[in-house]
Amino acid sequence: MIIVLKSGINDADVDEVCRRITEMGYGPHVIRGEFKTIVAAVGEERGRPDLRLLEAMETVESVMPVQQPFKLASREVRRDSTEVRINGVTVGGHDVVVMAGPCSVESQAQVLEVADAVKGSGAKVLRGGAYKPRTSPYAFQGLKEEGLRYLAEARKRTGLPVVTEVLETESVEVVAEYSDILQIGARNIQNFTLLRRVGEIGKPVLLKRGMATSIQEFLLSAEYILSAGNPNVILCERGIRTFETATRNTFDISAIPVVKKLSHLPIVADPSHGAGRRDMVAPMARAAVAAGADGLIIEVHCDPDHALSDGAQSMFPAQFDRLMAELRIIAPAIGRSICLEPVRRGGWGS
Ligand code: PEP
Ligand code: MN
Repeated sequence: MIIVLKSGINDADVDEVCRRITEMGYGPHVIRGEFKTIVAAVGEERGRPDLRLLEAMETVESVMPVQQPFKLASREVRRDSTEVRINGVTVGGHDVVVMAGPCSVESQAQVLEVADAVKGSGAKVLRGGAYKPRTSPYAFQGLKEEGLRYLAEARKRTGLPVVTEVLETESVEVVAEYSDILQIGARNIQNFTLLRRVGEIGKPVLLKRGMATSIQEFLLSAEYILSAGNPNVILCERGIRTFETATRNTFDISAIPVVKKLSHLPIVADPSHGAGRRDMVAPMARAAVAAGADGLIIEVHCDPDHALSDGAQSMFPAQFDRLMAELRIIAPAIGRSICLEPVRRGGWGS
């Protein structure tokens, strides 16, 4: 339920409404808008008092049900789009934020070289996996904490915040210590224990859609993080499994406007995993930005043929540089902007 408060109420009034909600057995979440403050009361309604009783309070204007099964993630609860701030970078605002880097952190030299390259082309966040979820237990599983240290070095050198995957609850703290955004991968979309844990940590979370997850299930997973107290959730469309085998996944571009309509959370797109083929990444990236994505996350490698994971879908730095130049034309065409002043253009062999 949404409890809409009257205009001109003070903090003590808001606290009193929250106290009453808690007393009735629900969890209160205060959302302060430009004109109105509302309190979302979440929790199972069966066996609990009817929240409409709160309409009797002096300070309450109205009590309304939230139609969608996800509550805190819903646009019904928050009309304004959420902006997630990460050390000077805002995801969900006017700028389209490009995150780029290798699939896996493989060595110190590899991550520093590619970090310099993507920064030079205008990326605002460095990606790189230290804990890798691999289909085969015999495949490279990541450098783990050593990889996190290399990412932190790259951040120090370039100033780019770091997004990296956290695979299990036991490593949430160490990943949070070294990184700026915690990535929950497609395979963990319904690991509810992990979702709650990253919700408690409070660091920004990049939540990737599962390969067989409906948009409703995707937003309910986001709800786990929000309801645990963390409002800084960035959604990520990364392709879903269909009967089609020409690409690794079917990149669901329509998920971008659908999510934008249903939720106030920012959504970025991952055309690398969506396509699975280097030659398809740029067209899908261009389409995602045109469709309204708040950002992109793209795999880039200086020597993709020898990459330890996802080489086939990793762009060469020169290709990434060209893509960024194209995005600088597309973003303004739809009223957005994208890093206008690349630090350096061209000069990377492909
Ligand atoms: C990745 O980002 O390298 C990754 C494993 O992504 P996903 O969880 O989308 O497969
Ligand atoms: Mn990958």
